[in-house]
Amino acid sequence: MLKQYENELKSLLPNSLIKVDEPLKNYTYTHTGGNADFYITVYTHEDAKNTLIFCKENDIPVTILGNGSNLIIRDGGIRGVVLNTLELKEITREGNTVYAGSGARIIDVSRFARDHSLSGLEFACGIPGSVGGAVYMNAGAYGGEIKDVLVEIIAVTPEGEIITVGKDDLHLGYRKSVVQENDYLVLQAIFELEESNQENIQSVMDELTHLRESKQPLELPSCGSVFQRPPGHFAGKLIQDSNLQGHRIGGVEVSKKHAGFMVNVDNGTGSDYEALIAHVQDVVFDKFGVKLEREVRIIGEK
Ligand SMILES: Cc1cc2nc3c(=O)[nH]c(=O)nc-3n(C[C@H](O)[C@H](O)[C@H](O)COP(=O)(O)OP(=O)(O)OC[C@H]3O[C@@H](n4cnc5c(N)ncnc54)[C@H](O)[C@@H]3O)c2cc1C
Repeated sequence: MLKQYENELKSLLPNSLIKVDEPLKNYTYTHTGGNADFYITVYTHEDAKNTLIFCKENDIPVTILGNGSNLIIRDGGIRGVVLNTLELKEITREGNTVYAGSGARIIDVSRFARDHSLSGLEFACGIPGSVGGAVYMNAGAYGGEIKDVLVEIIAVTPEGEIITVGKDDLHLGYRKSVVQENDYLVLQAIFELEESNQENIQSVMDELTHLRESKQPLELPSCGSVFQRPPGHFAGKLIQDSNLQGHRIGGVEVSKKHAGFMVNVDNGTGSDYEALIAHVQDVVFDKFGVKLEREVRIIGEK
């Protein structure tokens, strides 16, 4: 069955890179994840659309992967197709409007904007996600979020229809967007920025980079903040005050540098991450009565 799909996919998508039984730990920031039946890197909107249509017609599940910086993929991997967007990476501008392919790294879009003296994306200069992942999550940092600068997106519906969705219809909230509910595949995001002075932009970026480097364990694999900010609290502080920093399950431990992060210190697996997350949630709930909700997404088979 897989062989038959492989041949059909290869003739349907001549411009895409198709790998079979591909280890996903190579593509995630946590370095975890079993294999994908099919790992398809698309280079065109047409191939992205045709992949979704083919999968729909053949009842094959599709998982979209951006830069893998907000995902824990379980050790059993992912059945069906994993569609990677990272080659949809073109960034262009017209006046103050920036058009970014969903696979462009939001860090690169932030730098592109700086190079063109456009302000508004400085907050994103250290977020390691793709544009598609950043829209999906309404990523944000240091007081800024995607919602502040996004105008609209071009996306494909699971049925293969290419649509434009304006910001208001995306219902962007704290780490939320309609993209999550509707299973859209984001192809491109359009941002409206403001003309500014390149030196000012750079100095904001320098300051934020310094803050990030001094507080976050960027030298080790992680998925960034594991938990959302609970109303009225900081997840990191609750975890720290529960004496959980350095607590390790398998090869994954609560970072000693930033309690909101869990770092893969010794060949940790998806199940190590899941077990540590559950443990931290239990301990914090017992001690403070606060339920920590995950920000990171856990997908795939055990
Ligand atoms: C060290 C570190 C620091 C971080 N700091 C921040 C931070 O400051 N602020 C913040 O908000 N986040 C932060 N993150 C988390 C992460 O970078 C963001 O959530 C980012 O937006 C995820 O993008 P991605 O491309 O890596 O998405 P992935 O991890 O690849 O995917 C995340 C979700 O988005 C979906 N997705 C990805 N691309 C698309 C697309 N084109 N269309 C539809 N769905 C898509 C996936 O299916 C998945 O469900 C950090 C992570 C790390 C590792």
